[in-house]
Amino acid sequence: MTVTAPRDSTIAVVGEGFGSLIVYSTAVYLGFHPQEITIFGTNDNPVGTYQQYATNLGQTVLRSESESHFLPADWPTFGQLDAWSHKSPAPLWRSIKRKYNPGVSEILTEAGVVQRRLNWNGSRMPTRIGWLQRELSPTPHFVLYDEDAQFVGRAKHVMLALGHGPLTFPPVLAKARAHPAMEPRIVQAYEPKQYAPNGRYVVLGAGIASINEWANALDEGAKVVALRRNPAPDEQDLNVPRCLFEALGIDIFQGLPFEQRVEFLGRVLKGTTPKRRSWLERVEKGRREGRFEELIGEIEQAEPGPAGLRIYIGSRHGEDPGWFDVTGVVAGTGFVKSVLALPLIRRLVEHYDIPVEDGRMKLRTNCGVPGLDRGDSRLCMMGLTANTVIPHGDTIAGLKYIGRRFVADCYRAENVKGRRFFGRLKMQLSLGHATAKALRDVRRTEQLA
Ligand SMILES: Cc1cc2nc3c(=O)[nH]c(=O)nc-3n(C[C@H](O)[C@H](O)[C@H](O)COP(=O)(O)OP(=O)(O)OC[C@H]3O[C@@H](n4cnc5c(N)ncnc54)[C@H](O)[C@@H]3O)c2cc1C
Repeated sequence: MTVTAPRDSTIAVVGEGFGSLIVYSTAVYLGFHPQEITIFGTNDNPVGTYQQYATNLGQTVLRSESESHFLPADWPTFGQLDAWSHKSPAPLWRSIKRKYNPGVSEILTEAGVVQRRLNWNGSRMPTRIGWLQRELSPTPHFVLYDEDAQFVGRAKHVMLALGHGPLTFPPVLAKARAHPAMEPRIVQAYEPKQYAPNGRYVVLGAGIASINEWANALDEGAKVVALRRNPAPDEQDLNVPRCLFEALGIDIFQGLPFEQRVEFLGRVLKGTTPKRRSWLERVEKGRREGRFEELIGEIEQAEPGPAGLRIYIGSRHGEDPGWFDVTGVVAGTGFVKSVLALPLIRRLVEHYDIPVEDGRMKLRTNCGVPGLDRGDSRLCMMGLTANTVIPHGDTIAGLKYIGRRFVADCYRAENVKGRRFFGRLKMQLSLGHATAKALRDVRRTEQLA
């Protein structure tokens, strides 16, 4: 059963994705009552938004490693739970070598266990938030309204966990999509799609989403033209260098001025090519069969053609590759990164005059929203929108880092009578045990590293 409006809470989370589950489970673990927490969002499954993208992409294992999972504390790690569940040391060995990546179905199984056992849905109000009003009396708090401007409740502390903005296409392709004959042939890697076995597809980009699509198209028997603007990006499996996942790296990053942080992120997030065994094998096989080629360049024109699409590829790194007849184009170009693409944030920025530069909000180093965040009534952001402070903000590890600090601040501000050490241990072990049991019924995903 979900909750109904109006409802006052100590902690509110706007957005019902991964971030909400992490804030909720951490808060309950520390000693907040579920009645003190409200999650706002229409999906009854905290992994629903991610799962849709992962399915469209054909993602089978996470990029992240053993510590990135949904129990309130990191121990036992996911590799340990997997080993325990299947009575096999293999996950532990892989984990030591940094070659263990939780399977998507396994990690979603764990999220399901945590969600059900802690009754995440019982604290969720199935509505989207359209507006937040800062109030200072009688005590500092926020008043929340839905997208029809109806009052839905008040909250002392608010976490904005809104996820990603809309998907983005290069301008030439965005324009081509307005043409009814071309629209179904130009898709994002994160959108649903089907490859024709004898088709020829251009896949833009060289990041993890694009490489997944190379493999997906080759598996269907199609030909792939892998197109990227620049010569090969750095090889890296995580979405930022590993050192930035650790406290020391985060501290050094946070010590940089805002402009330098944005410039640094622009460099490290430009595109990362993970080298995974099975992808490489599939691409090498495609290359041997004459079904895979790589080009450096950009699509400069697109029009309907005999194979479906006719595109012109130009290059700043040599001779133009020229005109190509292709069945379709898949763009691994990701999401609009500007916070202004999120309607709620845009309204807050305009109304409260919150500083934004280059599409990024100048968050405080505790991920607080400048001008609205206070120690006794926090307003924080997590996920992609917080990566100017926590570079891996849009990963499970980054969400945990931000979520835990936020909940710990709320805990101190509210002087909560917390759950004792043995109470927490009991809760963690019982969730771990239930996860290990549930994993036994899930087919193990093949490791790719
Ligand atoms: C394909 C893909 C693969 C990934 N792989 C990995 C990986 O391997 N390892 C890893 O660590 N991370 C990975 N990530 C990144 C990360 O873990 C996810 O993006 C994560 O889902 C982010 O959590 P979130 O809560 O910020 O956003 P989401 O899970 O996207 O949830 C946000 C939710 O908020 C809702 N919402 C937005 N605005 C409002 C509003 N105004 N009111 C109410 N609700 C609202 C949205 O509809 C959405 O349902 C991946 C992401 C994608 C897309």
